[in-house]
Amino acid sequence: MKYKKLKKQTPHTRYIKIILFWLLQKKISTSTKDALTTKQELEKEKIGFNRIRCPLCEWRPSKFSRWVCSDCENPEYFYSACGTVWNTFTTQGLCPGCNHQWRWTSCLSCSQWSLHETWYEKQSC
Ligand SMILES: [Zn+2]
Ligand SMILES: [Zn+2]
Repeated sequence: MKYKKLKKQTPHTRYIKIILFWLLQKKISTSTKDALTTKQELEKEKIGFNRIRCPLCEWRPSKFSRWVCSDCENPEYFYSACGTVWNTFTTQGLCPGCNHQWRWTSCLSCSQWSLHETWYEKQSC
């Protein structure tokens, strides 16, 4: 009969195991939350890209827009261009090929030049 009493303790051990498992699950769900935060930050970056527009014609570049690092007289006066094609807004105007920091960015729509920083829309309150 005493054996049966001992056996009755088995569910209690299982209960502890369940708690441990639950704690583990909780830990997993916390890391999932972290992953979500990273995703949200990525979304924020996307919104940041939407705030870029040509200050002259309001044209908005997309992540598929491409600029070429090519010799430019007015207004950049840069004559050792490397010919790299990239999206200038992913590097804030820095050419990944020759590391030239482009101060000016030409518009792919109206072909006019504007200072790179003027392309970023100022956040309205
Ligand atoms: Zn270059
Ligand atoms: Zn433009």
